[in-house]
Amino acid sequence: MPLLRDPLLVLARSSRVKRLVSTMPVSSGIVRSYVPGEDTASAVLAVAALVDDGLTATLDYLGEDTRDRTQADGCVEAYLDLLRELSLRGLTRHAEVSVKLSAIGQAIPDAGAGKVALENARTICRAARNAGTTVTLDMEDHTTTDRTLAVLRELRQDFPETGAVIQAMLHRSEADCRALAHEGSRVRLCKGAYAEPTEVAFADGVEVDKSYVRCLKVLLAGQGYPMIATHDPRMVDIAAALASRYGRARGTYEFQMLFGIRPEEQKRLAAEGESVRTYVPYGEEWYGYLMRRLAEKPANLAFFARSLVSKT
Ligand SMILES: Cc1cc2nc3c(=O)[nH]c(=O)nc-3n(C[C@H](O)[C@H](O)[C@H](O)COP(=O)(O)OP(=O)(O)OC[C@H]3O[C@@H](n4cnc5c(N)ncnc54)[C@H](O)[C@@H]3O)c2cc1C
Repeated sequence: MPLLRDPLLVLARSSRVKRLVSTMPVSSGIVRSYVPGEDTASAVLAVAALVDDGLTATLDYLGEDTRDRTQADGCVEAYLDLLRELSLRGLTRHAEVSVKLSAIGQAIPDAGAGKVALENARTICRAARNAGTTVTLDMEDHTTTDRTLAVLRELRQDFPETGAVIQAMLHRSEADCRALAHEGSRVRLCKGAYAEPTEVAFADGVEVDKSYVRCLKVLLAGQGYPMIATHDPRMVDIAAALASRYGRARGTYEFQMLFGIRPEEQKRLAAEGESVRTYVPYGEEWYGYLMRRLAEKPANLAFFARSLVSKT
């Protein structure tokens, strides 16, 4: 049974809601506050502005649950184009890319889908390495965790710099962190953005936070490179205290936050000497991403509902 922690995430699966919302222009306030634009040029522009503020970036070409090969290949092309542009502008030292396997073939209904996603991911990893940067595999809902970690293991044989993502809300995550906290292993820790069943995930926010702290301890005490992805001020403070308790020098871990969320805090941490990376999503397929962000911030809902009503 899906956990109704976030009814909006359930509503988001309705194709009527998707049709209505997807026709909003990207320039409309609520979309623009989370997504800087739909093309490579606007993504690169956003990165350049972040770099001017002392931040680094990870870019996500939006798309997920892609059901056909042409669209999956188009997504790979978009990443290659982005990496070329970043390289031309000398930005790859400051920017890596985040990739969802379901956008590059994992969700194609065919027995060979895993192979398509793996080959596509390899193509992006190769281009990223040639451009002097890295890839992180985003984590999607719990039905994909094992497959994503299996692809990660394969990729890391040739591209050990490939980053993983662990979602603290899942019961399994502390054990996954243990397995991944080895030298050279880049691991992003987030709370988790999907509506998950209680059989596999903590339902209560306090339990998710406790799990987040347990995972933080494993990653910060370990040998890898933790990427602490949260906007939660308590988690940020706890992470900083744990980093110092475990003797972590600055630069041996980083904070990550999403584009448009707590931008002043991102700059403040960077000004204090912390490494801070902003996750920059861009592209035309912003619907799923926007709905997850709205579900996290109920205060946005009234504003969002008004913009929808004005369209009907
Ligand atoms: C860099 C990065 C990468 C991520 N990658 C993944 C991934 O691969 N897979 C995945 O499942 N999830 C991912 N997430 C999302 C993550 O799992 C959470 O859903 C999201 O970060 C909200 O959790 P939080 O830790 O910020 O804490 P919360 O307790 O949700 O929020 C703490 C505070 O942050 C602010 N805030 C949080 N969300 C919003 C919002 N939408 N709008 C405005 N303010 C907000 C509010 O002030 C809030 O009180 C990622 C998050 C980040 C920052």
